[in-house]
Amino acid sequence: MAWDFGTDPDYQSKLDWVADFVREEVQPLEYVLGHPSDVRDPRRNALVRPLQQEVRRQGLWACHLGPELGGQGYGQVKLALLNEILGGAMYGPTVFGCQAPDSGNAEILAHYGTPEQKARYLEPLLANEIAPCSAMTEPQGGADPGVFTTRAVREGDNWVISGEKWFASHARYAEFLIVMAVTDPDAPLMRRMSMFIVPADAPGLEIVHNYGFATEKEPNHGHLKFDRVKVPLDAMLGREGDAFVVAQVRLGGGRIHHAMRTIGEARRALDMMCERVISRSTKGERLADKQMVQEKIADSWIELEQFRLLVLRTAWLVDQKKDYKQVRKDISAIKAAMPRVLHDIATRALHLHGSLGITEEMPFTHLVMQSFHMGLADGPVEVHKVTVARQLLREYTPSGSQFPDYHLQTRREAALAKYGKALEAVGSTAGRAS
Ligand SMILES: Cc1cc2nc3c(=O)[nH]c(=O)nc-3n(C[C@H](O)[C@H](O)[C@H](O)COP(=O)(O)OP(=O)(O)OC[C@H]3O[C@@H](n4cnc5c(N)ncnc54)[C@H](O)[C@@H]3O)c2cc1C
Repeated sequence: MAWDFGTDPDYQSKLDWVADFVREEVQPLEYVLGHPSDVRDPRRNALVRPLQQEVRRQGLWACHLGPELGGQGYGQVKLALLNEILGGAMYGPTVFGCQAPDSGNAEILAHYGTPEQKARYLEPLLANEIAPCSAMTEPQGGADPGVFTTRAVREGDNWVISGEKWFASHARYAEFLIVMAVTDPDAPLMRRMSMFIVPADAPGLEIVHNYGFATEKEPNHGHLKFDRVKVPLDAMLGREGDAFVVAQVRLGGGRIHHAMRTIGEARRALDMMCERVISRSTKGERLADKQMVQEKIADSWIELEQFRLLVLRTAWLVDQKKDYKQVRKDISAIKAAMPRVLHDIATRALHLHGSLGITEEMPFTHLVMQSFHMGLADGPVEVHKVTVARQLLREYTPSGSQFPDYHLQTRREAALAKYGKALEAVGSTAGRAS
């Protein structure tokens, strides 16, 4: 097995183009436009569409997808190297056609959609002409799908959906929703629910309220009510009871893509922190010359590089195994590490900017909030740590005796059984462990 941390020169030159393009053309968008997912906003489209065209011309559109869906089929490592640049700009993923949650929802439709659904939803979604929304979480709990009660009942040629969903991001911009609903309340949890595609204008579907978290541009996380919303039988994605299987198609990729973009957000904060500390002086020296400041810089760089390597290694594993399930522990590990890394780096950057850092004129309060977003969306950190621990512990077997195998006496006896005769032959007791 080869270890190689290099990037092939052709791809590196594309990445260099991306870095310049994002800095010069894409970053400015976030200072003059609203939410990137508001695909009906003419101001947004006037600025974003030409940039998306340029990305297509460069052959970098929707790189997370295979060629059959208009992407490059680059795989996850190349995508990680691209996404870490795009993550540094709010509009980066949208301009390059790989924004969340659209990317994961497109993967679901590509896997499970009928030809009609693909024509109606997937094609315009891939062209970023419409936006989707994922509705799994319910008001009574998100981390535990066992408490979900939104119900889909078969009535003749329809499924009829009733219940409530919560914190469904981008609901107000969405053309369609992918909804998880209980189809067999008596089945074990993993077979209890199915996934449905629901048009946003379906009669009986209402956005009761849009929530926004602090620092967000506009509230867009919908509290949804389904009052006997009827969809045809083929609106079910996958088979009955398959909701978790279908969700994994989105969540596996979605989580690792969030982590790739988070590297870009954290790096932006680190860059700003470094520029500030070499630019400002207090008590006769630059902030950068003070050891406690240097510690903050060093810790930030070390944490970011550790995290980046973990993300790239996980991306590499996905490319090797081509199956998110086999890389579950690694994906959960980066999901659990991501909020802490972003939080700590953004907090240090905020603090080192002094009073300016805490204002809305600077991006740090938003980045700190983003770290909490990353710690909750797609499941809270604790749940992912449990997955890491469970998967890791499967690799171990219990010791059959009262004392562990690595107990000193046990180890010494085993070592003597192996090397005792050889030691007797030399006749020396020098260096003997007592
Ligand atoms: C910005 C944002 C966007 C989101 N977008 C979407 C979306 O588009 N679609 C969607 O369906 N959902 C979305 N969510 C919802 C998200 O999936 C849930 O917030 C998450 O699953 C937690 O559910 P909850 O908020 O109900 O918290 P709860 O389930 O009430 O959990 C609260 C806290 O309890 C602790 N906890 C929970 N479970 C455990 C455990 N097993 N062990 C130890 N501690 C635990 C954690 O600290 C957790 O944060 C989004 C959330 C956010 C913040």
